[in-house]
Amino acid sequence: MSVVLKTTGLAKRFGDITAVGGIDLTVNRGEYFIVLGPSGAGKTTLLKMVAGLIEPDSGSIEIEGRSVDNLPPERRNIAFLSQEYSLFPHMTVWENTVFGPMMMGWSEREMHSIGVEMLNMVHLFDRKDAYPTELSGGMQQRNALARALARTAGLLLLDEPLRALDARLRLSLRWELRKLSTALKITTLHVTHDQEEAMSIADRIMVIRKGRIIQVGTPDELYNQPATPFVANFLGQANFIEGTIISSGDVTMIKDLYGREFRAPPSSFKEGERVVAAIKTERMRISEEMAENTIEFEVVRRMFLGRFVDYTLKSAEGEKFYMKVPHTVDLLEPGQKVPVRMPERNLMVFGYPEKGLKEELRVE
Ligand code: ADP
Ligand code: MG
Repeated sequence: MSVVLKTTGLAKRFGDITAVGGIDLTVNRGEYFIVLGPSGAGKTTLLKMVAGLIEPDSGSIEIEGRSVDNLPPERRNIAFLSQEYSLFPHMTVWENTVFGPMMMGWSEREMHSIGVEMLNMVHLFDRKDAYPTELSGGMQQRNALARALARTAGLLLLDEPLRALDARLRLSLRWELRKLSTALKITTLHVTHDQEEAMSIADRIMVIRKGRIIQVGTPDELYNQPATPFVANFLGQANFIEGTIISSGDVTMIKDLYGREFRAPPSSFKEGERVVAAIKTERMRISEEMAENTIEFEVVRRMFLGRFVDYTLKSAEGEKFYMKVPHTVDLLEPGQKVPVRMPERNLMVFGYPEKGLKEELRVE
């Protein structure tokens, strides 16, 4: 497997702010790699350093095995779709799209074929003679995306490429983007704050926060084996129980702040250690009776979300929990009391976060 992009200790500060705090990143050939982080995490800064548009304070970048630290953007063999993409206002959709291939001296036939393919992908072929000012914001973004893709560079850099699009189009473009990058064997580094987007198309995801790497892995690994409570909550949504370890070994026994006891999978925490147990909202189970790992809740709020129903629950102690249930399950009514079980195997136990749980979960 060959490496297309490798950054080592890449860092950038703006005054007191560490935008990127030393990032080691490896993207393999053909990979669709997503950097996921809340706004302000340093995604754009990272991407612009790779593109050669921001000079790092320290660290190095290799593209296709060669150092590009001293190369200008146009010599890095990259295509970059920036967050503040700009189309050439005096060019039509078509001219904007085939601009890269034209500059690279492609033949008319090659240019025509890539132009048609890209504009079909972004559903803009019928607007090919329009000028940017005649397009909606979403259309301009799709045009900019088509232009970046048509450059067919060794490395495609995308900064929130689906941001300004309406929900339906965003979903369909997600898939087409992924399909196309596989078909054209493009290596892609895509940054986004949208966890669903990341989960649905990435081969691998790097979660960053405040310029630092929290975890790197496949969508499945990040979802099922989050390294921190932040990741557990950022990919999907989770509920948290704070407590201390009663015993560990084959079963981890936790006593929470209200004296309730919970069983969790084996761990190596020590008796008395302060921990946080997390459970994804869709792994809570409506129960018939009070039993192990069960809390009685009152249903506070019900929200229909397509195939799922989202419940907000409140315990007698006043805690708020969230539960996501397939629409096929009998509905609960607001005001109703219901025992909800947190199955042992679905609990994930973490050491108590250094700066407290609230700060750990905060999305900037
Ligand atoms: P993201 O793309 O993840 O939202 P950015 O890379 O744009 O994050 O920004 C990371 C941090 O660096 C933020 O706190 C942002 O305010 C700060 N920052 C980015 N660019 C500049 C700049 N040119 N001057 C000062 N601060 C900046
Ligand atoms: Mg950004």
